[in-house]
Amino acid sequence: MRVTVLGSAAGGGFPQWNCACANCSRLRDGVLRYQARSQAQVVVWANTGQCHLLNASPDLRTQILSTSFLAPARPPRHTPIAGVLLTSADVDSVAGLLHLREFQPLHIYATPSVRRIVLEENRIFHVLERANPPATWHDVSLDTWFPLGQVNSSSGESSIRCRMVPLGSAYPDYVSAGLRHSLPPGEAVVGLVLAQESKQVFYAPALPAGSVEWKDWARSSDLCMLDGTFWDENELISAGVGSKTAREIGHVPLSGAGGLLEQLDSAKRGRRVLIHVNNTNPILDEESAEHREVRDAGWEIAYDGMEFQL
Ligand SMILES: [Zn+2]
Repeated sequence: MRVTVLGSAAGGGFPQWNCACANCSRLRDGVLRYQARSQAQVVVWANTGQCHLLNASPDLRTQILSTSFLAPARPPRHTPIAGVLLTSADVDSVAGLLHLREFQPLHIYATPSVRRIVLEENRIFHVLERANPPATWHDVSLDTWFPLGQVNSSSGESSIRCRMVPLGSAYPDYVSAGLRHSLPPGEAVVGLVLAQESKQVFYAPALPAGSVEWKDWARSSDLCMLDGTFWDENELISAGVGSKTAREIGHVPLSGAGGLLEQLDSAKRGRRVLIHVNNTNPILDEESAEHREVRDAGWEIAYDGMEFQL
């Protein structure tokens, strides 16, 4: 299984077009200890000739164009992208589906609630039905293994197995009150477990405070890519760019009591990578104390183009 990070930043990217926070300003000024990042996007390749996208970022078109192995292999139209797995109905997770609208058959895996939000609240996503065959939505039950794609008949290589782990109950702000009240809370935000043979990956770009089940999956995985959105609970407030705390918008911060660094001890077997890093996060400054603290604790910080072979 090969895992490639096409984008590593939280919503807005780094720098964010309208943001003049310390990080975004210094990056624009060319300060060398910063690296630009596009919005979080990961692709998982099963060695069967097909790959799957983990969410569909608003930067997806550019990310595909800059990745040689995602180019069409034959005329007239082709893509190695077989499908997309959605971890939530957040704009950051689903907006990129519109970049995939060029009459391309796709499989989309999501909880029934996420599918309903995308299709019932946002008619524009019905554009994916123009493909022949139209995009196929798969309603995924929580905590149940399902196969991704097909077994390669020539090599006998097994497909990736996946399961969605419930992480939280916060549906996006844009969801209408009527629909919101009809949705079960556990289907709002999920983490993805991807397994092939003896290797396992856990992907959770949003970890709401209060969820705990993910820790067992993170500890048992060869690679876990977790929520690196905020360093501090009051980061948006301190930067003057928001009025809500990290936990109020569905992200446990890295630092402080109950923070991610404290929650996940170092006694686990695999690589631990922070992804979905917000542009206000001081760990983006490669010479900051926070950056050093994260690295000293055994974490890696995802960057665009980062690749893992498992
Ligand atoms: Zn900024």
